[in-house]
Parts: sequence; C-alpha cells; structure tokens
Amino acid sequence: MWLNSKTLYPCYYCHHQHFKHDISSYADGRMLCKDCVRHIIVSSENLNIVAQWVLQQIENLGFKFTRGYTHVSLISKEKMKNLGFDHAEGLATNTVSHHLFLQDQHIHAQINVIYGMPTANLVWVLSHEIGHVLVSQHQYKFNSMAQEEGFCQLMALLVSQKSQNPLMPRVLHKEFNNPDPIYGGELRKAYAQYQQQGFSVYFKNFI
Ligand SMILES: [Zn+2]
Ligand SMILES: [Zn+2]
Repeated sequence: MWLNSKTLYPCYYCHHQHFKHDISSYADGRMLCKDCVRHIIVSSENLNIVAQWVLQQIENLGFKFTRGYTHVSLISKEKMKNLGFDHAEGLATNTVSHHLFLQDQHIHAQINVIYGMPTANLVWVLSHEIGHVLVSQHQYKFNSMAQEEGFCQLMALLVSQKSQNPLMPRVLHKEFNNPDPIYGGELRKAYAQYQQQGFSVYFKNFI
C-alpha cells in the first residue's frame, strides 16, 4: 500500500484544499490558494468598482439605498482586531441620531473590509455590510440580532448569485454550508422562507 504523505491546506477564502506549493500566506496568517491570489482586492479603486456593482444589484432587488452617505475602506486584519472584531471580514458602523418623539434617523455609515480578499468574497462581504446600512437607513425592525444577520446573509446570497466571478461557486458553497448557527443557520432559515414565500412576503415580516 502506498500513502500520500503530502499535506493539504485549506484556502482561507474558498476552502479548497491545496498542496503547500500552491498556497501563499499573508503576514497575518491567512493562507490563500493560487486561484484566490489572482483575484485579490488591494486598491480602493477596485473596492469602489465592486461596491458600485453590489449597490446596483441591491437596487435591482427593489431596495432604495440612499447613496452618498456611506464610506467604504480597506483595513488590515490587525486594525479589525483592534476594533474588537477579531474574525470579521467586514464591519458596518452606522451613525444614527436619536429623537425623543420621532423615529431614529440614519446619518451616515462607515464600512470597513479586510485588505487583500478575493473579489468573490468581497462581493459577499460588501453585500452583507450594505445590508446592515440599508436596515439602518430604513430603520427596519427585526425580532433579534440573529434575524438581522440572516437578512444580511440572504442579501449577500441573492447578490452573489448574480456574479459571474469564476470563484463565486466556491464562496456560495462555503457560505451556505457554514456550520455557524448565526451566519450559516440564519442564512439557511432566511433562504428557506424566501423560497417558500418569495422575497416580498419574507421581507414584509419585519418592515
Ligand atoms: Zn482559494
Ligand atoms: Zn452582519
């Protein structure tokens, strides 16, 4: 019997297994396969191109997103950790003004995403974070934080399904099979409701 002793490493972004010589590493420990390395986003120009495309898809779903009050930036994994979100790939911070007798009002938002992720992952992460901004702009009310995460994950899924990026099938598979009860579990729950009822009925449950 012959055993292959060569170790396979999972790519941080697409979860495909590769031999060591097909893997590159960032200083912060992320290991990327040769396919993902070809698609990494490291400039704000490219970040903005992806963000504009994502916004267009969200508008095509029928949502009204108020443009001009949301800033998108690339940050290091270290900076994300310092912000208190060690494992987050993206983070949306909404600034809202509170009124005593009126509904709270969204002022602006800052979206931070990790520097150097591949385009397909960025499409997913940006759609999710723009989902949180949309929720804040319209002051949609959810029963729980988990349900809001499910909504943002569903948004990410519906936008990502429109993408022709060659690595998107891997990202869709990875996200849909995520064992995490929030990011995976709530996504599967939201997706099942969306398929059963259609988007507008699913959506009416919380607006
Ligand atoms: Zn990969
Ligand atoms: Zn979220």
